[in-house]
Amino acid sequence: MQRLYQARDALEAQLLSDFLADRRIETVVLGQYLAGGVGELAAFNFPVVWVVEDADLAPAKARLAEFLAMSRGPERWRCPRCGEVVEDGLLVCWNCGEPCPD
Ligand SMILES: [Zn+2]
Repeated sequence: MQRLYQARDALEAQLLSDFLADRRIETVVLGQYLAGGVGELAAFNFPVVWVVEDADLAPAKARLAEFLAMSRGPERWRCPRCGEVVEDGLLVCWNCGEPCPD
């Protein structure tokens, strides 16, 4: 099993899991119901989507990029320099510092 993506919330994790299932990529979502103990809390704050078959990881990553582009809301934009999705009205890319193209 390979870790694919840490979702923002349980809904996004489920949408991604369904999206991949439609494309014959089997995933499981872990972490969303686990409260976690001291020291584990941060790890379990967000649900993580895992690809069940290791061989599906590469195609799953390609689909993930599609999924993120589709689900991008008005507050999110894709960095033209590094390709990261930047959220919450940030004026520069959190990853590389490129200014928002708008
Ligand atoms: Zn960037």
